[in-house]
Amino acid sequence: METSKYTIKATRTKESKINEVDWDNIPFGRVFSDHMLVMDYKDGKWGEPEIIPFGDMGLHPATSAIHYGQSVFEGMKAYRTVDGDAVTFRPEMNAKRFRKSAHRMCMADISEDLFLYCLDELLKFDDEWVPKKHTNSMYVRPFMFATDGYTGIKPSETYRFMIFTCPVGSYYTEAINLKIEEEYSRAAEGGVGAAKAAGNYAASLYPAKLAQDNGFHQLIWTDAQTHEYVEEAGTMNILFVIDGVLVTPAESDTILAGITKRSVIEVAKDWGMPVEERKVTVKEVIKAIEEGRMSEAFGAGTAATIAPIKMIGFRGKEYHLPGVEKRTFSKKVVEDLDNMKYGRTEDRFDWVHKV
Ligand SMILES: *Cc1c(COP(=O)(O)O)cnc(C)c1O
Repeated sequence: METSKYTIKATRTKESKINEVDWDNIPFGRVFSDHMLVMDYKDGKWGEPEIIPFGDMGLHPATSAIHYGQSVFEGMKAYRTVDGDAVTFRPEMNAKRFRKSAHRMCMADISEDLFLYCLDELLKFDDEWVPKKHTNSMYVRPFMFATDGYTGIKPSETYRFMIFTCPVGSYYTEAINLKIEEEYSRAAEGGVGAAKAAGNYAASLYPAKLAQDNGFHQLIWTDAQTHEYVEEAGTMNILFVIDGVLVTPAESDTILAGITKRSVIEVAKDWGMPVEERKVTVKEVIKAIEEGRMSEAFGAGTAATIAPIKMIGFRGKEYHLPGVEKRTFSKKVVEDLDNMKYGRTEDRFDWVHKV
């Protein structure tokens, strides 16, 4: 075996918490594995990554990420296959996107190679935390933030890269109600909407809360300029099946390029289903529902994989989508993706990476 060009230091916790986990009932994002990975950037380069017990850390009060928001992250999952291996799904896409996000936020570059090395090392170290039950998985959160203790505004010269992991249960999703948002915007052309930047979430909380107070789960964001085009749904990309065609807004600098959505599209094409990635108007979405031509609509993202949509609210009116019996495409696509992730079928796209 090739020896790595990187080295890593690891300190094992003295008090593992693994016996405290109720594997049949894991709340999302609140249970943390025993260890985390930390790697600091200074003097123009990354230091050695280190695996340490999960826990609090000290921060300078002027930490620039807190004040000026240089902070980016990724969200991905690790799975335990039927053969007992821990695997990740298309991790190189997360590595590429992380790099792109950091670039846009004027932060330190981290090579895909180094990102993937850190990821595998932490997952190997906490292997027993990757759930064995095939409805569970492990949520993985790589992130980077600016650490200069300086009150002036400029790109930080120091950064911290970290990864922690959370075992998670099956993200059973009830079909959701979404409101088409025409007042607030998530992203504007030339902005940071295509970066997985922490601040994008901060900006979306208030409009999402207004919708939640009215019984919606999330928003469907529209373009900032005209609000005539659909962009994405809350924290997920959005896809529609209209007249048997898979339709989704084309990637742009106001839409986060999701790996789940990309995978759904590639599977659909593999099945010979027509796919259109283009601008999608609010008008055509409403019209297709009214005329009964939309058989399904769903959000796509790592946490839930697929979140079926049951109702879309637009200008005070409710537009209801067909029930579960019509959702044949999204149901089949989730099964196909899960079968690949859990090693139940051949990995025909070469998407699964053994840790
Ligand atoms: C992460 C994210 C998605 C989904 O991306 P995946 O790679 O599929 O998890 C969609 N929209 C936004 C705004 C996101 O941050």
